[in-house]
Amino acid sequence: MLLLQAFVDFTTLTQHKYVKILGHNFSFEPFILMTTATTPANFTELGLIPPLLARLTELEYLQPTPIQAQAIPSVLAGRDLIAGANTGSGKTATFALPLLQQLHAEKSSSNNASKGNYVTGLILVPTRELAKQVADSVKSYAVHLNGAIKTVAVFGGVSVNTQMLALRGGTDILVATPGRLLDLISSNAIKLDKVSTIVLDEADRMLSLGFTEELSQLLALTPKKKQTLLFSATFPEQVQTLTQALLNNPIEIQLQSSDTSTLVQRVFTVNKGEKTALLAFLIKQHQWRQVLIFVNAKNSCEHLAAKLAKRGINAEVFHGDKGQGARSRVLEEFKIGEIDVLIATDIAARGLDIEKLPVVINFDLPRSPSDYMHRIGRSGRAGEVGLALSLIDYEDYHHFSVIEKKHKIRLEREQVAGFEVDDIISEEFLAATKPMAKPEGSGKKKRKNKTSVNADIWLQNS
Ligand code: AMP
Repeated sequence: MLLLQAFVDFTTLTQHKYVKILGHNFSFEPFILMTTATTPANFTELGLIPPLLARLTELEYLQPTPIQAQAIPSVLAGRDLIAGANTGSGKTATFALPLLQQLHAEKSSSNNASKGNYVTGLILVPTRELAKQVADSVKSYAVHLNGAIKTVAVFGGVSVNTQMLALRGGTDILVATPGRLLDLISSNAIKLDKVSTIVLDEADRMLSLGFTEELSQLLALTPKKKQTLLFSATFPEQVQTLTQALLNNPIEIQLQSSDTSTLVQRVFTVNKGEKTALLAFLIKQHQWRQVLIFVNAKNSCEHLAAKLAKRGINAEVFHGDKGQGARSRVLEEFKIGEIDVLIATDIAARGLDIEKLPVVINFDLPRSPSDYMHRIGRSGRAGEVGLALSLIDYEDYHHFSVIEKKHKIRLEREQVAGFEVDDIISEEFLAATKPMAKPEGSGKKKRKNKTSVNADIWLQNS
């Protein structure tokens, strides 16, 4: 075993063995940070059972991804785990496969399914769409387990009655958003007393302020002794203490890398007021098969869609004010390529797996640097080639530098021919940015030459 990465400050940790989190006292042991010296080259070496291996072959999962190779044996061994790995790196299978295997073994040996409305494996996720997607993946991995493992997804915005029916007699695996799960618990449709494994997918989001109260209530209903697995592409500092407190002597694996290799990140500077025109130009010129555009507010989705429509571009919107039926339809149509341009808020930023999505655009920059990684991670998944573009005007410039610093990246500021930034504003850019030194000499011309991009060349290259 090798020491992998010192993710937490050991001195701080050892000083505080008890932490109050979400209203409960948790004890913890310092992390054991380790990984295997050699990465298993295939799934068989990870200790998975034949029905799961057969399914992976059918799905053409030829090799475990690094997070799968390193984490699956520990999860199978029943260890608590905190796992960080880039978006699209196969985290769902990392928790789903061992969970299925464990539950399958338990059911085979006990020979009787537990009676009552209990759940054994609980997976909590932040959005409705992710709940459905994760449950679909779990069901897909389980197809050769001969129906031994029941999986149900519950989330808000749809009929609770159907979900209550689905939960009759309990379920082995439940994928849930916290709010709807609490509703179902209060109507006695499901009980958490027999949860043996809990997974927090997008763990940093689940531990963030918006979910604190709900998560606290849910955790209080689960048994003390259970396996806890936390997965995310980002673990900002403010949630690190919480993650430590939730886990019992966990294994920690952090494989995040700022080298998103197959995903090209670019940033285009543009005059304030010309972003929409630039966006429309790029969409028309490049004729992307699909493009996902992020904005920061629900009404911004609608406004931008209306402005693009005036420029002859049809775009659909995806945000929290849409009914669940419309949300599901739009996402499904986007996934199968019937919608080319989708404008979304951050509800689309986490976890969604849109196969071969070629382009993600930050029309508005995300408020938190973590969300930047999650947004751009909708493209370039599972080793596919992708492009993440951020359009920034002078008001965004400093914030983009903060995002870069946080992720230890530095992108060249580019301009698209025909959308050059005014010289006056260009000076403001230079003044506003700390990381980028002002070029010697007049600055104006030099910077313009350095950063201007001939759109035709760019279009050919991208
Ligand atoms: P995830 O990060 O779990 O959302 O997975 C991203 C994508 O990678 C999904 O489309 C998975 O089906 C796919 N995937 C996961 N593991 C593997 C693997 N070992 N080989 C090939 N594809 C994989």
